[in-house]
Amino acid sequence: MSEQKHLTNSNGCPIGDNQNSLTAGERGPVLMQDFQLLEQMQHFNRERIPERVVHAKGSGAYGTFTVTNPIPQYTKAKFLSEAGQQTDVFVRFSTVAGERGAADAERDVRGFAIKFYTEEGNWDLVGNNTPVFFIRDPYKFQQLIHSQKRHPQTNLRDPNMQWDFWSLNPESLHQITILFSDRGLPASYRHMNGYGSHTFSFINADGERVWCKFHLKTRQGVKCLSDEQAANTIGIDRESHQKDLYEAIERRNYPSWRVCVQIMTEQQAQNFRWNPFDLTKVWPHDEFPLMDIGTLELNRNPENYFAEVEEAAFSPSAFVPGIRASPDKVLQARLMSYGDAHRYRLGTNYHQIPVNQPRCPVMNYQRDGAMSTGYGGNSPNYYPNSYEDTPKEAPEYKEPALPLGNVSADRYDSQQEDNYTQPGMLWRVLDEDHKNRTANAIASKLGEADKEIQKRQLCHFFRADTDYGQRVAQALGIEVDSSLLQNPE
Ligand code: NDP
Repeated sequence: MSEQKHLTNSNGCPIGDNQNSLTAGERGPVLMQDFQLLEQMQHFNRERIPERVVHAKGSGAYGTFTVTNPIPQYTKAKFLSEAGQQTDVFVRFSTVAGERGAADAERDVRGFAIKFYTEEGNWDLVGNNTPVFFIRDPYKFQQLIHSQKRHPQTNLRDPNMQWDFWSLNPESLHQITILFSDRGLPASYRHMNGYGSHTFSFINADGERVWCKFHLKTRQGVKCLSDEQAANTIGIDRESHQKDLYEAIERRNYPSWRVCVQIMTEQQAQNFRWNPFDLTKVWPHDEFPLMDIGTLELNRNPENYFAEVEEAAFSPSAFVPGIRASPDKVLQARLMSYGDAHRYRLGTNYHQIPVNQPRCPVMNYQRDGAMSTGYGGNSPNYYPNSYEDTPKEAPEYKEPALPLGNVSADRYDSQQEDNYTQPGMLWRVLDEDHKNRTANAIASKLGEADKEIQKRQLCHFFRADTDYGQRVAQALGIEVDSSLLQNPE
């Protein structure tokens, strides 16, 4: 017989009676010393976290991405390098404008966000079921969403606000046409396509870049609801998409999608008749044919909706080597805003929540923050540092520069600027006593550092002014030799 599970408080203390408050006499009042009751009430008051400002209502499932056609000629992403290779994924579908309790079968764009747990880190493809979006400039996003959510006075969704905004922003027309076509009302999450929507870049092992778009084509076939069918569905079941996805997976009727890409060379991008980074445009299929790269299958339901679906955090900035951003302005803004939203909603350590944790080692110098689980241990929390076994940058992963007319976007090494002339000039302004006081003040602290570090720093003083170096060396009691006159490393 299995051992009986003891009910406990959050500190692990076994509970003897979990049905009756502690009272002074049978009729009360309730005593403050009923710490069991207090803890239960206090935890309950904090059970909800801020809901997502968009995509609040969602459903999620785990699954597998399997490569069918590797594309090493375009990308060095390891998880795309071999046929048959499998990567675990977590997918969250959602409606956009409705709140967390909204009905599923509403006319709306659907979110289609995929987290690929690759060996080189998590790659998040945070897309929709539409290949385009309402706006091409992120400056308009907040206003767009205000117009689609509730009116400040009536607290109703308001067609006047929606069409007011859309009619003043004609770049929304492509997305409006999709939204009001049949596909604006999917029959379920299983019966719709997904799109990365933005243009991204693929970078291969030779550092060559092409632009790409991602498409997921449902293997279940596209199925949609009429407005009347949707109204009937909502009347009976507000969670129709959640139910459909959950039950299909429980029945082992695993939904799957073909995963395809479109590729555009930099040369083609320069000559394309539309801006290839405009989120309101597609790349026509006849010019940029879909190329199958793999299959996505969803085959496992989460065990705890809150921990795995509500606390799932996707960010377009979660890239892996071989996949990067493009100049798409809306993508550029999303690279910042998603992580920012998660830090507000879940806290700065949202990566440590199991559903968000990469399946490969995470090694960096970020530390602490609310709800830290002690990441980093006792190792140094700054970079660069002098210690062998600390994480180091790996130049082979550096992204190639992106040419932008007369300049290129790159990480320029600012350490090679002139670092010495002005400190030397300042040194020479100081009078004798002041120089000695400064050298002594430096030595009193620098003397507590490792000898190696003292010598490295001395080289810098020498490069600014020989006298500066000599006085600090003397104050430290270090004999000056030619090595101190070399360039510091
Ligand atoms: P194609 O004639 O090659 O293909 C038409 C595309 O439209 C197919 O991908 C089809 O999806 C999709 N489609 C059909 N009905 C709808 C709908 N109600 N809402 C959204 N998509 C729908 O087209 P082109 O590439 O020349 O593009 C023409 C138009 O097709 C675009 O302006 C765009 O609106 C739409 N489209 C284009 C896509 C692209 O990446 N080029 C992607 C999706 C839509 P399916 O094959 O799954 O039936």
